[in-house]
Amino acid sequence: MAIKYIDIHSHLQISEYDSDREVVLMRMREAGVGTIVVGVDYESSRQAVELAEKNENIYACIGLHPKDNTTEVFDTEAYRKLVQNPKVVAVGECGLDFFRLEGDSGKVEEIKAQQKKLFIQQINLAIEMDNPLMLHCRDAYREVLDILIPYKKQAGEKLRGNVHFFAGDVATAREFIQLGFTVSFTGVITFARNYDEVIRSIPLESILSETDAPFVAPVPYRGKRNEPAYVTEVVKKLAEIRGEDVEKFRIQLLENARRVFGVALL
Ligand SMILES: [Zn+2]
Repeated sequence: MAIKYIDIHSHLQISEYDSDREVVLMRMREAGVGTIVVGVDYESSRQAVELAEKNENIYACIGLHPKDNTTEVFDTEAYRKLVQNPKVVAVGECGLDFFRLEGDSGKVEEIKAQQKKLFIQQINLAIEMDNPLMLHCRDAYREVLDILIPYKKQAGEKLRGNVHFFAGDVATAREFIQLGFTVSFTGVITFARNYDEVIRSIPLESILSETDAPFVAPVPYRGKRNEPAYVTEVVKKLAEIRGEDVEKFRIQLLENARRVFGVALL
């Protein structure tokens, strides 16, 4: 099938889709949508790879999220084996998430240190395997940049990737772009206006579309379970905010995804 739109971040492997995954996949094929299915721990990463192996318009991203599974100990060797699968196109989602950290101040510092350790293990894996990173970053843009900047000096082009669900300001976006990262936006941009300025300021080659499905469905599906086929609404809205021709913009987004993740345009 020909991919016309790419949703670079979804969680199509999770149980929310167990009852009707085939129908969701069919809607994707009908709309010409491809997606990168993102793992948040070992099990969901393995399932992402499995789904990618069965569907030509699906790719996988494997990694351990900073918050979603705090009991898992990162097993580099196990993840290294997953990365070697040809349908794995990135390492993540990984990063730092300092949003509403619970506990007393001592505990918060401990959690932050643990998140940083886990993030660094995955940066090292991505550089070693020459894979882009899929970054999850919440209330911690400065801290993430401070970790990445020294790595850029030693790893050069091998350090690269995308900042998923970007919610930072224009200056922060520029810093990530300088480091060789793109930024991606979800369906939130169809109903929240506080992303418009940053969306307009980003160079055309540094922007990507995503759904983060099953979360944050775009208008007109707002409040419902999200799915990769709805990325078409995100692309339309991004083009509208930027004042671009939708068709040209759509093609540019495919080219960006191909450059960053090496996904084949079938
Ligand atoms: Zn996600």
